[in-house]
Amino acid sequence: MAHDGAMTTLTLVQGDITAQHVDALVNAANSSLLGGGGVDGAIHRRGGPEILDACRDLRASQYGKGLPTGRAVATTAGRLDARWVIHTVGPVWSATEDRSGLLASCYRESLRVADELGARTVAFPAISTGVYRWPMDDAARIAVETVRATDTAVEEVRFVLFDEPAYAAFTARTG
Ligand code: ADP
Repeated sequence: MAHDGAMTTLTLVQGDITAQHVDALVNAANSSLLGGGGVDGAIHRRGGPEILDACRDLRASQYGKGLPTGRAVATTAGRLDARWVIHTVGPVWSATEDRSGLLASCYRESLRVADELGARTVAFPAISTGVYRWPMDDAARIAVETVRATDTAVEEVRFVLFDEPAYAAFTARTG
């Protein structure tokens, strides 16, 4: 059944995504699914070893070559105050190649997985804007446009921005 995308509320908070109480929180993972820095490191640190165990199982069963960029997959949220972590792999920023379709795909695929799970509240970080160096203003534009254009039963999409410049960039796109 089609959902009314207009019923999805976008909210912005400045803070740490691992402190959010939501049905699902999205991890800016890398393709190995074995953890990293930034959001990934924070999620595994606070969520505990159950998440990494689940990621290892996924690698063994389906993603031996890694989770492709732009795709998303869910695991337990371990000790986090959420039911699931949805791992998605953002594209590395490129000045010569337009990879914005892949960044949009991260948001769309994560919401598709959230719908499959029945998640109603989903928290996203600013995917690809850390180690992967995507310019914040452009990343905010893609994130907001994509979520608004996605047909989903998710009731609240919460963007959790780590610092004030990120919060300001998202505010400029949602205001
Ligand atoms: P990527 O590899 O996709 O660039 P990063 O985790 O390096 O992912 O960074 C993505 C964004 O998340 C950056 O803007 C970074 O400042 C921010 N960030 C880092 N830690 C957290 C956290 N605990 N909660 C929310 N956002 C975070």
